[in-house]
Amino acid sequence: MSTYQNKIALSHVKKSFGTAEILKDISLEVKKGQVVALLGPSGSGKSTIFNLITNLITPDEGTITVDGNVGYMYQKDTMVPWKKVIDNIALPLRFQGMNKREAREKAISYLDTFGLSGYETKYPSMLSGGMKQRANFLKTYLTSNDIILLDEPFGALDSMTRKRMQMWLLSVTKEMNATILLITHDIEEAIFLADQVYVLSDKPATVLGQVAVEFETERTEATVLEERFISYKKKITEILEL
Ligand code: ADP
Ligand code: MG
Repeated sequence: MSTYQNKIALSHVKKSFGTAEILKDISLEVKKGQVVALLGPSGSGKSTIFNLITNLITPDEGTITVDGNVGYMYQKDTMVPWKKVIDNIALPLRFQGMNKREAREKAISYLDTFGLSGYETKYPSMLSGGMKQRANFLKTYLTSNDIILLDEPFGALDSMTRKRMQMWLLSVTKEMNATILLITHDIEEAIFLADQVYVLSDKPATVLGQVAVEFETERTEATVLEERFISYKKKITEILEL
């Protein structure tokens, strides 16, 4: 297959910080409309891969191509505490040159979909963890709805909120038709959300394996109980233990 529909492609990327080798050999592809998960242990270099894709840092070797505009949701919350939720969300639109009223109106039109209606005039500290992440996600989405990078979006949430957020993310990604690259260290989360899972080694990171995920029916809460889900889990666990 030709590579023209790749939205992101990394080929034999290497990166060290000083004498510490972090990425040893990373090659991966994200195709248009796909949800791809990068699964790997903490400290393996996953966020470094995002920083390379967004040009915050440059690779020592290898090539990185990105076809489209990227929205990057950082591992850390980036909402400024002294701005109302709506103005935090609208910030990327302001950077794009919209005036305050236009930016607010556009952001408001998405509040319902992102489950934030009624919270627009609140301050970030008044939101629950799940809501804060939905607001961060909407802010990212308004930066770009073409390619979206999500760095452990549910990492700080309790497991029940996390499950709810995964269901919610699944439903919005279906509507959005965006290309999404998602970092997680949670095997079930990767299988539940992604069409393709790249399994990374400990640092210095290499790609240990790649698993294409497909279910016969649309994913629901019950998907995690399916035999196929369990066999994906086994497969990935085996790859990690190699
Ligand atoms: P992950 O996201 O998989 O947890 P990171 O990509 O954040 O891992 O970090 C991988 C390793 O690279 C860590 O040991 C971290 O300390 C190191 N590292 C990341 N960024 C830098 C940097 N700018 N300078 C020096 N070391 C860094
Ligand atoms: Mg990280």
